[in-house]
Amino acid sequence: MSEVLFEVVTPDHIVVSRPVMYISLRGGGGDLGILPRHTPLATTVPAGIVRVRVAAGEDYIVVTDGFLHVMPDRVTLLVAAAEIGSLVDTDRADYARRRAEQRLAERTATIDVARAEAALARARLRLEAAELSSRAGGVLVQSNTHVRT
Ligand code: ATP
Repeated sequence: MSEVLFEVVTPDHIVVSRPVMYISLRGGGGDLGILPRHTPLATTVPAGIVRVRVAAGEDYIVVTDGFLHVMPDRVTLLVAAAEIGSLVDTDRADYARRRAEQRLAERTATIDVARAEAALARARLRLEAAELSSRAGGVLVQSNTHVRT
């Protein structure tokens, strides 16, 4: 079975470091599907949901925007924050979503609209990743010892 080492790294911890069979994500120039032995590539990535395939199935990781570095044997995603879908605290994300929605609905003079919109987008992505990961069985956490939380 052909695999590539996939690392998702934030400034304070390694969210994922494990071999995977396939990685699917949005890159700066469009959608990217990465198999082992991909040609070298470096690009920015927008905030979004990364899909990975491992032997046990598929799972999802929610990431802020960042940088992607692809080498034939290693793929590194450097982001400000990331969570494996099944490890998202959905109560917290739901609270963040409602708080941002309320701020945007009120639109008082002191509201930073761009900041509230960004918080809302992060919360929605987290909730979506949690849902996708739950439906997929949370295999990244269930099936291996390479995940650090
Ligand atoms: P909140 O308002 O709930 O703090 P936020 O969008 O401002 O949300 P971030 O600044 O994006 O949070 O992330 C700060 C840290 O908290 C990161 O380490 C991130 O992985 C973690 N984090 C944020 N929200 C969640 C969540 N719902 N579940 C798990 N970890 C989270």
